[in-house]
Amino acid sequence: MFKKNICDSNAIIINMFTTFVKKRMTQIAKTPITVAYGDGIGPEIMDATLRILLAAGAKIEPEIIEIGENVYNNGFSSGIKPEAWESLRRTKVFLKAPITTPQGGGFKSLNVTIRKVLGMYANVRPCISYHPYVKTKHPVMDVVIIRENEEDLYAGIEHQQTDEVIQCLKILSVPGTEKIVRYAFEYARAYGRKKVTCFTKDNIMKMTDGMFHKVFDKIGEEYPEIEKEHWIIDIGAAKLADTPEVFDVIVMPNLYGDILSDVAAQITGSVGLAGSANIGDHVSMFEAIHGSAPRRAGQNVANPSGLLLGAVQMLMHIGQPDVAEKVHNAWLKTMEDGIHTYDIFKEGTSKQKVGTKEFADAVINNIGNVPAQLKKVDYSTTSNKPFVIKPSVTIPAKKELVGVDIFLHHKDRDPNKLGNSLKDIKAGNMELTMITNRGVKVFPDGMAETFCTDHWRCRYKSEELSASTYADVISLQQQITNLGFDIIKTENLVTMDGQAMFSAGQGQ
Ligand code: NAD
Repeated sequence: MFKKNICDSNAIIINMFTTFVKKRMTQIAKTPITVAYGDGIGPEIMDATLRILLAAGAKIEPEIIEIGENVYNNGFSSGIKPEAWESLRRTKVFLKAPITTPQGGGFKSLNVTIRKVLGMYANVRPCISYHPYVKTKHPVMDVVIIRENEEDLYAGIEHQQTDEVIQCLKILSVPGTEKIVRYAFEYARAYGRKKVTCFTKDNIMKMTDGMFHKVFDKIGEEYPEIEKEHWIIDIGAAKLADTPEVFDVIVMPNLYGDILSDVAAQITGSVGLAGSANIGDHVSMFEAIHGSAPRRAGQNVANPSGLLLGAVQMLMHIGQPDVAEKVHNAWLKTMEDGIHTYDIFKEGTSKQKVGTKEFADAVINNIGNVPAQLKKVDYSTTSNKPFVIKPSVTIPAKKELVGVDIFLHHKDRDPNKLGNSLKDIKAGNMELTMITNRGVKVFPDGMAETFCTDHWRCRYKSEELSASTYADVISLQQQITNLGFDIIKTENLVTMDGQAMFSAGQGQ
């Protein structure tokens, strides 16, 4: 009897334990994600997206945070409350609906803040046309734009320096460039893409964009199976707008990528269909590329496709490619069935104009189906492993100060008068070698036709690039100030391992 009792209680305990483990396993198997419903059409498209994901069996556990207009208006100038950061740090995955940035000064872009503060270095935007179901001039377009997301002119370092001249600093780092370039190659490898193209303007910006191009060439050598090419951005952009079918994956610095990813999404037929991933080492964010469309809010008309395709990228990121494939194919089938929201509805091509909710219902009904005409997606062989993106270790070079560019605010537009006032100033082995205005050499021997503003760069250095001291730089500044000139800033001229690390003046 006693024995039996022990057995019974054991069985009960084992049963309880099994139920507990099963429950725990389901809990463990669910990936927590931070979700923001956003503003305008945000809540409607997020609701539609989450319904589709859950119907397809996504193992996710949404944790809701508030961001956007309300938060801005409650005194948080970045549009996000401190406790929301904790959720992002905990889940490391953010599915975000668009938000409305209030008009007027003082409000910072939440998107830029989140991307940069949390180190989301790669922005990934697949731009695909869905011909003949969505009208486009480019029926065979399938391009992925991979944009550097943290650096470049988006460092946001701007200064008004004179009455007439304002400066914005373009900052590219070697590790930042290595990370985005390697990400592009890893992405191409994981998704079976054949070619990676790099866009830069290194014929003009030989040091910044030149470094990006060099890093692309160097890292590209590690991916022999992938075709590589480089285009100067202007002709590359023209080619992308005209013949997008020649491109596959394109990697580029931040500003070019910002502009060209919108162009690429638009020429597929609608900017409203593209999703976007912002990938970081710590936290990654997934969203639509369009905004909150406040005029369409609350009417059940918005197209949830952009956010849904962003969510498909999220499912891949959190290791649920089977669900990603199901959702993506169901969506493609719905597009093919001609069940369209107003923004892509076309008499003749579309069959049924539906609202946000009905579109989501149609996608849910198609779960398990695949498109017949459009190319179905197959993520079964896509690598599930997170990409290992580590920049190389920087080996410090031997750095030597060899001169200084001293920038002046000076109203008189005559370069010869200015040059003659400054040419006798010397310190150590440094003497005035040239003056430029907006980068063009105007002294000595400038051209009479060159227009000059009130912003002058005076370059002091030794002819042979021999070492100078910072005390000499200070002495130059002191002498120039003593003559009554207004110094805006200085920029050191250095050599690294004996090579000059500064650009020449145009016309020099
Ligand atoms: P928008 O993309 O919100 O809308 C432009 C137009 O495109 C809309 O009027 C609408 O006709 C159409 N549209 C956009 N998305 C649609 C959808 N899913 N379904 C159907 N039609 C759609 O651009 P906007 O009007 O310039 O910006 C509105 C607000 O969104 C601004 O406050 C802006 O700052 C913000 N914004 C946010 C994000 C973001 O959170 N990621 C991105 C861009 C703009």
